[in-house]
Amino acid sequence: MTAITLHRSPVVLPVGSPAIRDGAVAVSSNRIVAVGSHDDLSAEFGESTGFKRVEWSGTLTPGLVNAHTHLQYSDMAAVGQGRYSGFEDWSRSFQAAYLAPHDWAESAASGAQQAARTGTTALADIVTDRAAGRALHDAGLHGITFWEVFNWKAARWRAEGRETVEAEIDRIPTPPVVGLSPHAVYSLDTDVLHDLVAWSAEQGLRQHIHAAEAASEDDFTRTGSGTLAEQWRRYGHADLQLLSGGGSGLGAIAYLDSVGALAPTTHLAHGIYVDADDRALLRRRGVTVALCPRSNAVIGLEPPPVAAYLTEHSPLAVGTDSLSSSPSLNLLEDVAALHRLARTQGYRGSGLHERLLEAATLGGARALGQNRGSRTPGAAPGGTGALGVLEPGAAADFAVFATASPDPRDALAELVETGTTPTTATYVDGEPLWLAAVADGKENSHV
Ligand SMILES: [Zn+2]
Repeated sequence: MTAITLHRSPVVLPVGSPAIRDGAVAVSSNRIVAVGSHDDLSAEFGESTGFKRVEWSGTLTPGLVNAHTHLQYSDMAAVGQGRYSGFEDWSRSFQAAYLAPHDWAESAASGAQQAARTGTTALADIVTDRAAGRALHDAGLHGITFWEVFNWKAARWRAEGRETVEAEIDRIPTPPVVGLSPHAVYSLDTDVLHDLVAWSAEQGLRQHIHAAEAASEDDFTRTGSGTLAEQWRRYGHADLQLLSGGGSGLGAIAYLDSVGALAPTTHLAHGIYVDADDRALLRRRGVTVALCPRSNAVIGLEPPPVAAYLTEHSPLAVGTDSLSSSPSLNLLEDVAALHRLARTQGYRGSGLHERLLEAATLGGARALGQNRGSRTPGAAPGGTGALGVLEPGAAADFAVFATASPDPRDALAELVETGTTPTTATYVDGEPLWLAAVADGKENSHV
Protein backbone atom coordinates (compact mmCIF):
# COMPACT_ATOMS: atom_id res chain seq x y z
CA MET A 1 0.00 0.00 0.00
CA THR A 2 1.24 3.52 -0.75
CA ALA A 3 1.65 5.93 2.15
CA ILE A 4 -1.39 7.11 4.08
CA THR A 5 -2.39 10.75 4.34
CA LEU A 6 -4.81 11.49 7.15
CA HIS A 7 -7.08 14.50 6.55
CA ARG A 8 -8.37 15.64 9.94
CA SER A 9 -11.29 18.05 10.37
CA PRO A 10 -13.42 19.20 13.34
CA VAL A 11 -16.50 17.98 11.44
CA VAL A 12 -16.59 15.18 8.86
CA LEU A 13 -19.88 14.56 7.03
CA PRO A 14 -19.40 11.26 5.18
CA VAL A 15 -22.98 11.17 3.68
CA GLY A 16 -24.57 7.76 4.01
CA SER A 17 -23.16 7.31 7.52
CA PRO A 18 -23.37 9.51 10.66
CA ALA A 19 -21.51 12.80 11.07
CA ILE A 20 -18.21 12.62 12.94
CA ARG A 21 -16.91 15.21 15.39
CA ASP A 22 -13.09 15.53 15.21
CA GLY A 23 -13.09 13.11 12.32
CA ALA A 24 -10.59 12.05 9.72
CA VAL A 25 -10.36 10.48 6.30
CA ALA A 26 -7.40 8.21 5.53
CA VAL A 27 -6.32 8.42 1.89
CA SER A 28 -3.95 6.17 0.00
CA SER A 29 -3.14 7.24 -3.55
CA ASN A 30 -6.51 8.11 -5.20
CA ARG A 31 -8.76 6.16 -2.80
CA ILE A 32 -10.20 6.52 0.65
CA VAL A 33 -9.12 3.63 2.88
CA ALA A 34 -10.88 4.58 6.14
CA VAL A 35 -13.25 7.15 7.64
CA GLY A 36 -13.69 7.60 11.39
CA SER A 37 -12.68 9.52 14.48
CA HIS A 38 -9.29 11.19 14.30
CA ASP A 39 -8.03 9.33 17.37
CA ASP A 40 -9.02 5.91 16.03
CA LEU A 41 -7.49 6.47 12.59
CA SER A 42 -4.39 8.04 14.08
CA ALA A 43 -3.88 4.94 16.22
CA GLU A 44 -4.44 2.70 13.19
CA PHE A 45 -2.22 4.49 10.66
CA GLY A 46 -0.02 6.93 12.63
CA GLU A 47 3.02 4.63 12.72
CA SER A 48 2.84 3.52 9.08
CA THR A 49 5.70 4.30 6.67
CA GLY A 50 5.42 7.68 4.99
CA PHE A 51 2.40 8.71 7.11
CA LYS A 52 1.29 12.35 6.75
CA ARG A 53 -1.37 14.35 8.57
CA VAL A 54 -3.22 17.38 7.16
CA GLU A 55 -5.16 19.45 9.70
CA TRP A 56 -8.20 21.32 8.37
CA SER A 57 -10.61 23.61 10.12
CA GLY A 58 -14.32 23.59 9.28
CA THR A 59 -16.25 20.75 7.66
CA LEU A 60 -15.02 18.02 5.34
CA THR A 61 -17.62 16.54 2.96
CA PRO A 62 -17.58 14.38 -0.16
CA GLY A 63 -16.84 16.44 -3.26
CA LEU A 64 -20.04 18.00 -4.58
CA VAL A 65 -21.58 16.48 -7.71
CA ASN A 66 -23.17 19.03 -10.04
CA ALA A 67 -25.68 16.86 -11.90
CA HIS A 68 -26.63 19.39 -14.57
CA THR A 69 -24.51 22.09 -16.14
CA HIS A 70 -23.11 23.40 -19.41
CA LEU A 71 -19.61 24.69 -18.60
CA GLN A 72 -19.40 25.73 -22.26
CA TYR A 73 -21.77 28.66 -21.59
CA SER A 74 -19.67 30.16 -18.79
CA ASP A 75 -18.94 33.22 -20.94
CA MET A 76 -22.69 33.87 -21.38
CA ALA A 77 -23.17 35.24 -17.87
CA ALA A 78 -24.72 38.42 -19.32
CA VAL A 79 -27.74 36.31 -20.34
CA GLY A 80 -27.87 34.69 -16.91
CA GLN A 81 -27.89 38.07 -15.20
CA GLY A 82 -31.16 39.03 -16.92
CA ARG A 83 -34.68 38.25 -15.77
CA TYR A 84 -37.16 36.57 -18.08
CA SER A 85 -40.87 35.94 -18.27
CA GLY A 86 -40.60 32.27 -19.17
CA PHE A 87 -38.76 29.69 -21.21
CA GLU A 88 -39.59 31.08 -24.66
CA ASP A 89 -38.51 34.60 -23.56
CA TRP A 90 -35.19 33.37 -22.13
CA SER A 91 -34.45 31.10 -25.09
CA ARG A 92 -34.65 34.07 -27.49
CA SER A 93 -31.89 35.84 -25.52
CA PHE A 94 -29.93 32.63 -25.19
CA GLN A 95 -30.11 31.92 -28.91
CA ALA A 96 -28.89 35.41 -29.89
CA ALA A 97 -25.92 35.19 -27.48
CA TYR A 98 -25.11 31.58 -28.46
CA LEU A 99 -24.78 32.48 -32.14
CA ALA A 100 -22.20 35.23 -31.44
CA PRO A 101 -18.51 34.24 -31.68
CA HIS A 102 -17.11 32.41 -28.65
CA ASP A 103 -13.92 30.81 -27.46
CA TRP A 104 -15.80 27.79 -26.15
CA ALA A 105 -12.67 26.04 -24.89
CA GLU A 106 -11.71 29.00 -22.72
CA SER A 107 -15.29 29.51 -21.57
CA ALA A 108 -15.65 25.87 -20.49
CA ALA A 109 -12.22 25.87 -18.80
CA SER A 110 -13.23 28.96 -16.81
CA GLY A 111 -16.42 27.21 -15.71
CA ALA A 112 -14.46 24.15 -14.59
CA GLN A 113 -12.27 26.37 -12.38
CA GLN A 114 -15.31 28.09 -10.90
CA ALA A 115 -16.86 24.72 -10.06
CA ALA A 116 -13.64 23.43 -8.47
CA ARG A 117 -13.29 26.60 -6.38
CA THR A 118 -16.69 25.95 -4.81
CA GLY A 119 -16.15 22.33 -3.78
CA THR A 120 -17.41 20.52 -6.86
CA THR A 121 -15.41 17.46 -7.94
CA ALA A 122 -17.73 15.83 -10.50
CA LEU A 123 -20.19 17.18 -13.05
CA ALA A 124 -22.72 16.18 -15.65
CA ASP A 125 -21.40 18.59 -18.28
CA ILE A 126 -23.34 19.00 -21.54
CA VAL A 127 -21.47 20.23 -24.61
CA THR A 128 -22.55 21.22 -28.11
CA ASP A 129 -19.17 22.25 -29.48
CA ARG A 130 -16.16 19.99 -29.55
CA ALA A 131 -13.82 22.71 -28.24
CA ALA A 132 -15.78 22.63 -24.95
CA GLY A 133 -15.58 18.85 -24.65
CA ARG A 134 -12.15 18.86 -23.01
CA ALA A 135 -13.08 20.87 -19.91
CA LEU A 136 -13.55 18.06 -17.37
CA HIS A 137 -10.59 16.10 -18.75
CA ASP A 138 -8.22 19.08 -18.73
CA ALA A 139 -9.28 20.24 -15.27
CA GLY A 140 -8.91 16.74 -13.79
CA LEU A 141 -12.56 16.68 -12.71
CA HIS A 142 -14.73 13.59 -12.51
CA GLY A 143 -18.21 13.07 -13.96
CA ILE A 144 -19.57 12.66 -17.48
CA THR A 145 -19.14 14.81 -20.57
CA PHE A 146 -22.48 14.52 -22.38
CA TRP A 147 -22.56 15.28 -26.09
CA GLU A 148 -25.81 17.12 -26.77
CA VAL A 149 -27.92 15.91 -29.68
CA PHE A 150 -30.46 18.47 -30.90
CA ASN A 151 -32.23 19.73 -34.01
CA TRP A 152 -32.35 16.38 -35.76
CA LYS A 153 -35.29 15.23 -37.82
CA ALA A 154 -35.95 11.65 -38.79
CA ALA A 155 -34.85 11.64 -42.45
CA ARG A 156 -31.50 13.36 -41.95
CA TRP A 157 -30.88 11.29 -38.81
CA ARG A 158 -31.37 8.05 -40.77
CA ALA A 159 -28.95 9.28 -43.42
CA GLU A 160 -26.12 10.56 -41.25
CA GLY A 161 -27.13 10.85 -37.57
CA ARG A 162 -25.23 8.06 -35.86
CA GLU A 163 -22.03 8.62 -37.85
CA THR A 164 -22.07 12.35 -37.17
CA VAL A 165 -22.65 12.01 -33.45
CA GLU A 166 -20.24 9.09 -33.11
CA ALA A 167 -17.47 11.16 -34.69
CA GLU A 168 -18.04 13.92 -32.11
CA ILE A 169 -18.15 11.50 -29.19
CA ASP A 170 -14.92 9.87 -30.33
CA ARG A 171 -13.18 13.25 -30.14
CA ILE A 172 -14.07 13.86 -26.48
CA PRO A 173 -11.03 13.01 -24.37
CA THR A 174 -11.41 10.50 -21.52
CA PRO A 175 -11.32 10.25 -18.62
CA PRO A 176 -13.93 11.13 -17.53
CA VAL A 177 -16.77 9.16 -19.06
CA VAL A 178 -18.64 10.24 -22.20
CA GLY A 179 -22.45 10.18 -22.44
CA LEU A 180 -25.26 11.22 -24.78
CA SER A 181 -27.65 14.06 -24.12
CA PRO A 182 -30.75 13.96 -26.30
CA HIS A 183 -31.56 17.64 -25.74
CA ALA A 184 -35.32 17.69 -25.16
CA VAL A 185 -38.66 16.41 -26.45
CA TYR A 186 -39.16 19.49 -28.66
CA SER A 187 -35.83 19.53 -30.52
CA LEU A 188 -35.68 15.92 -31.75
CA ASP A 189 -38.05 13.85 -33.82
CA THR A 190 -39.73 10.91 -32.13
CA ASP A 191 -37.88 8.46 -34.41
CA VAL A 192 -34.58 10.09 -33.43
CA LEU A 193 -35.31 9.74 -29.71
CA HIS A 194 -36.21 6.07 -30.27
CA ASP A 195 -32.94 5.45 -32.07
CA LEU A 196 -30.85 7.37 -29.51
CA VAL A 197 -32.27 5.18 -26.75
CA ALA A 198 -31.43 2.00 -28.66
CA TRP A 199 -28.00 3.26 -29.63
CA SER A 200 -27.13 4.36 -26.06
CA ALA A 201 -28.07 0.90 -24.80
CA GLU A 202 -25.92 -0.78 -27.49
CA GLN A 203 -22.95 1.46 -26.66
CA GLY A 204 -23.44 1.43 -22.89
CA LEU A 205 -23.73 5.22 -22.87
CA ARG A 206 -25.61 7.06 -20.15
CA GLN A 207 -28.22 9.63 -21.18
CA HIS A 208 -29.16 13.02 -19.75
CA ILE A 209 -32.26 14.89 -20.98
CA HIS A 210 -33.83 18.30 -20.27
CA ALA A 211 -37.44 17.52 -19.33
CA ALA A 212 -40.47 19.32 -17.92
CA GLU A 213 -38.50 22.58 -17.91
CA ALA A 214 -40.91 24.59 -20.06
CA ALA A 215 -44.55 24.83 -19.01
CA SER A 216 -45.73 24.16 -22.55
CA GLU A 217 -43.66 20.99 -23.15
CA ASP A 218 -46.75 19.00 -22.17
CA ASP A 219 -48.90 20.71 -24.84
CA PHE A 220 -46.07 20.19 -27.33
CA THR A 221 -45.91 16.43 -26.83
CA ARG A 222 -49.66 15.91 -26.21
CA THR A 223 -51.18 17.89 -29.08
CA GLY A 224 -48.35 19.67 -30.91
CA SER A 225 -49.73 23.02 -29.73
CA GLY A 226 -48.93 25.75 -27.19
CA THR A 227 -46.38 28.56 -26.98
CA LEU A 228 -43.31 26.37 -27.38
CA ALA A 229 -44.85 24.65 -30.41
CA GLU A 230 -45.63 28.05 -31.96
CA GLN A 231 -42.06 29.21 -31.36
CA TRP A 232 -40.64 26.10 -33.03
CA ARG A 233 -43.00 26.51 -35.97
CA ARG A 234 -41.73 30.08 -36.35
CA TYR A 235 -38.14 28.77 -36.27
CA GLY A 236 -39.03 26.65 -39.31
CA HIS A 237 -39.58 23.29 -37.61
CA ALA A 238 -43.26 22.72 -38.44
CA ASP A 239 -42.21 19.39 -39.96
CA LEU A 240 -41.16 17.93 -36.58
CA GLN A 241 -43.13 14.70 -36.16
CA LEU A 242 -44.96 15.90 -33.03
CA LEU A 243 -45.93 19.21 -34.68
CA SER A 244 -47.00 17.87 -38.06
CA GLY A 245 -48.75 14.86 -36.53
CA GLY A 246 -50.80 16.68 -33.88
CA GLY A 247 -48.84 15.29 -30.90
CA SER A 248 -48.62 11.92 -29.20
CA GLY A 249 -51.54 12.22 -26.78
CA LEU A 250 -49.07 11.94 -23.92
CA GLY A 251 -47.57 14.50 -21.53
CA ALA A 252 -43.82 15.09 -21.70
CA ILE A 253 -42.77 12.49 -19.11
CA ALA A 254 -45.14 9.77 -20.40
CA TYR A 255 -43.99 10.57 -23.94
CA LEU A 256 -40.33 10.07 -22.93
CA ASP A 257 -41.37 6.74 -21.43
CA SER A 258 -43.16 5.77 -24.65
CA VAL A 259 -39.90 6.13 -26.60
CA GLY A 260 -38.02 4.06 -23.99
CA ALA A 261 -36.01 7.01 -22.67
CA LEU A 262 -36.82 6.49 -18.99
CA ALA A 263 -34.37 4.01 -17.48
CA PRO A 264 -31.92 3.94 -14.56
CA THR A 265 -29.17 4.80 -17.04
CA THR A 266 -30.87 8.14 -17.79
CA HIS A 267 -31.24 11.19 -15.59
CA LEU A 268 -33.37 14.24 -16.24
CA ALA A 269 -32.73 17.93 -15.64
CA HIS A 270 -35.35 20.27 -14.11
CA GLY A 271 -38.52 18.18 -13.67
CA ILE A 272 -40.62 21.24 -12.82
CA TYR A 273 -43.91 20.66 -14.63
CA VAL A 274 -44.66 17.16 -13.36
CA ASP A 275 -47.68 15.78 -11.54
CA ALA A 276 -47.88 12.93 -9.04
CA ASP A 277 -48.32 10.36 -11.85
CA ASP A 278 -45.23 11.65 -13.64
CA ARG A 279 -43.17 11.49 -10.45
CA ALA A 280 -44.42 7.97 -9.71
CA LEU A 281 -43.44 6.89 -13.23
CA LEU A 282 -39.95 8.37 -12.80
CA ARG A 283 -39.52 6.48 -9.53
CA ARG A 284 -40.68 3.21 -11.10
CA ARG A 285 -38.14 3.66 -13.88
CA GLY A 286 -35.35 4.55 -11.43
CA VAL A 287 -34.79 7.97 -12.99
CA THR A 288 -33.08 10.67 -10.92
CA VAL A 289 -34.11 14.29 -11.42
CA ALA A 290 -31.45 17.02 -11.14
CA LEU A 291 -33.19 20.09 -9.73
CA CYS A 292 -31.80 23.51 -10.75
CA PRO A 293 -33.90 26.01 -8.77
CA ARG A 294 -31.84 29.16 -9.33
CA SER A 295 -31.83 28.67 -13.10
CA ASN A 296 -35.60 28.13 -13.01
CA ALA A 297 -36.03 31.43 -11.13
CA VAL A 298 -33.88 33.43 -13.58
CA ILE A 299 -35.83 32.08 -16.55
CA GLY A 300 -39.13 32.93 -14.86
CA LEU A 301 -40.39 29.37 -14.43
CA GLU A 302 -42.31 27.92 -11.52
CA PRO A 303 -40.12 26.50 -8.75
CA PRO A 304 -39.65 22.71 -8.89
CA PRO A 305 -41.97 20.75 -6.56
CA VAL A 306 -39.17 19.81 -4.19
CA ALA A 307 -41.44 19.19 -1.19
CA ALA A 308 -43.45 16.63 -3.19
CA TYR A 309 -40.29 14.96 -4.51
CA LEU A 310 -38.92 14.72 -0.95
CA THR A 311 -42.18 13.49 0.57
CA GLU A 312 -42.51 10.83 -2.13
CA HIS A 313 -38.83 9.80 -1.82
CA SER A 314 -37.95 10.44 -5.43
CA PRO A 315 -34.26 10.07 -6.29
CA LEU A 316 -32.92 13.64 -6.43
CA ALA A 317 -29.75 15.40 -7.48
CA VAL A 318 -28.84 19.09 -7.77
CA GLY A 319 -27.51 21.08 -10.72
CA THR A 320 -26.56 24.69 -11.25
CA ASP A 321 -27.38 24.66 -14.96
CA SER A 322 -25.09 27.10 -16.81
CA LEU A 323 -24.13 30.72 -16.23
CA SER A 324 -26.46 31.57 -19.13
CA SER A 325 -29.33 31.05 -16.68
CA SER A 326 -27.79 31.05 -13.22
CA PRO A 327 -25.81 33.52 -11.11
CA SER A 328 -22.97 31.10 -10.24
CA LEU A 329 -21.65 27.56 -10.51
CA ASN A 330 -21.67 27.19 -6.72
CA LEU A 331 -23.82 24.10 -6.18
CA LEU A 332 -24.37 24.88 -2.49
CA GLU A 333 -26.32 27.99 -3.49
CA ASP A 334 -28.81 25.73 -5.28
CA VAL A 335 -28.92 23.52 -2.19
CA ALA A 336 -29.82 26.59 -0.11
CA ALA A 337 -32.49 27.56 -2.66
CA LEU A 338 -33.97 24.05 -2.44
CA HIS A 339 -34.01 24.31 1.36
CA ARG A 340 -35.95 27.58 1.21
CA LEU A 341 -38.36 26.14 -1.38
CA ALA A 342 -38.96 22.95 0.60
CA ARG A 343 -39.93 25.01 3.64
CA THR A 344 -42.05 27.44 1.60
CA GLN A 345 -43.85 24.50 0.01
CA GLY A 346 -44.67 23.15 3.48
CA TYR A 347 -42.17 20.31 3.76
CA ARG A 348 -41.91 19.44 7.47
CA GLY A 349 -40.18 16.05 7.31
CA SER A 350 -37.11 15.38 9.43
CA GLY A 351 -33.55 15.22 8.15
CA LEU A 352 -33.99 17.90 5.48
CA HIS A 353 -30.40 19.11 5.83
CA GLU A 354 -29.05 15.57 5.46
CA ARG A 355 -31.26 14.82 2.48
CA LEU A 356 -30.27 17.96 0.61
CA LEU A 357 -26.54 17.43 1.19
CA GLU A 358 -27.04 13.86 0.02
CA ALA A 359 -28.79 15.07 -3.15
CA ALA A 360 -25.78 17.33 -3.90
CA THR A 361 -23.28 14.49 -3.40
CA LEU A 362 -24.38 10.85 -3.44
CA GLY A 363 -27.64 11.69 -5.27
CA GLY A 364 -25.62 13.26 -8.07
CA ALA A 365 -23.27 10.29 -8.14
CA ARG A 366 -26.30 7.98 -8.49
CA ALA A 367 -27.63 10.13 -11.32
CA LEU A 368 -24.32 9.59 -13.12
CA GLY A 369 -24.16 5.87 -12.27
CA GLN A 370 -20.95 6.55 -10.34
CA ASN A 371 -22.07 5.82 -6.78
CA ARG A 372 -20.53 2.36 -6.85
CA GLY A 373 -17.13 2.91 -8.34
CA SER A 374 -15.85 2.16 -11.79
CA ARG A 375 -18.64 -0.02 -13.12
CA THR A 376 -20.02 2.79 -15.25
CA PRO A 377 -20.12 1.86 -18.92
CA GLY A 378 -17.28 3.56 -20.72
CA ALA A 379 -15.20 4.08 -17.58
CA ALA A 380 -11.47 4.00 -18.09
CA PRO A 381 -9.78 0.73 -17.16
CA GLY A 382 -9.11 0.74 -13.44
CA GLY A 383 -11.57 3.61 -13.19
CA THR A 384 -12.29 5.59 -10.08
CA GLY A 385 -13.89 4.65 -6.80
CA ALA A 386 -17.43 5.61 -5.87
CA LEU A 387 -18.22 9.32 -5.98
CA GLY A 388 -20.38 11.42 -3.66
CA VAL A 389 -19.57 9.56 -0.46
CA LEU A 390 -16.73 9.16 2.02
CA GLU A 391 -16.25 5.45 2.59
CA PRO A 392 -13.47 2.88 2.20
CA GLY A 393 -12.84 2.25 -1.51
CA ALA A 394 -14.44 5.50 -2.65
CA ALA A 395 -12.55 8.02 -4.75
CA ALA A 396 -10.55 10.43 -2.57
CA ASP A 397 -12.73 13.34 -3.76
CA PHE A 398 -13.65 15.74 -1.00
CA ALA A 399 -14.17 19.39 -0.12
CA VAL A 400 -13.47 21.40 3.02
CA PHE A 401 -15.77 24.30 3.90
CA ALA A 402 -15.01 27.06 6.41
CA THR A 403 -18.00 26.51 8.69
CA ALA A 404 -18.01 28.33 12.01
CA SER A 405 -19.28 25.71 14.46
CA PRO A 406 -17.47 22.53 15.58
CA ASP A 407 -20.90 20.99 16.19
CA PRO A 408 -21.81 18.70 13.28
CA ARG A 409 -25.52 19.62 13.32
CA ASP A 410 -24.81 23.35 13.26
CA ALA A 411 -22.12 22.99 10.61
CA LEU A 412 -24.47 20.99 8.36
CA ALA A 413 -27.25 23.53 8.86
CA GLU A 414 -24.90 26.37 7.92
CA LEU A 415 -23.73 24.60 4.76
CA VAL A 416 -27.25 23.76 3.58
CA GLU A 417 -29.10 26.91 4.60
CA THR A 418 -26.65 29.67 3.64
CA GLY A 419 -25.08 28.23 0.49
CA THR A 420 -22.27 30.77 0.87
CA THR A 421 -19.78 29.05 3.21
CA PRO A 422 -16.33 29.62 1.65
CA THR A 423 -14.52 26.59 0.25
CA THR A 424 -11.10 25.99 1.81
CA ALA A 425 -10.00 23.06 -0.34
CA THR A 426 -11.18 20.78 -3.13
CA TYR A 427 -9.44 17.42 -3.63
CA VAL A 428 -9.87 15.00 -6.51
CA ASP A 429 -8.23 11.56 -6.48
CA GLY A 430 -6.38 12.50 -3.30
CA GLU A 431 -4.73 15.55 -4.88
CA PRO A 432 -5.59 19.22 -4.29
CA LEU A 433 -7.43 20.77 -7.22
CA TRP A 434 -8.03 24.01 -5.35
CA LEU A 435 -6.62 25.46 -2.13
CA ALA A 436 -7.89 28.74 -0.72
CA ALA A 437 -5.56 31.47 0.43
CA VAL A 438 -3.50 30.77 3.50
CA ALA A 439 -3.05 33.35 6.25
CA ASP A 440 -0.18 35.12 4.49
CA GLY A 441 -2.69 36.98 2.31
CA LYS A 442 -1.69 35.39 -0.99
CA GLU A 443 -4.21 35.24 -3.76
CA ASN A 444 -6.25 32.08 -3.95
CA SER A 445 -4.41 29.63 -6.09
CA HIS A 446 -5.29 26.86 -8.42
CA VAL A 447 -2.93 23.97 -7.86
ZN1 LIG B 1 -29.47 22.85 -19.17
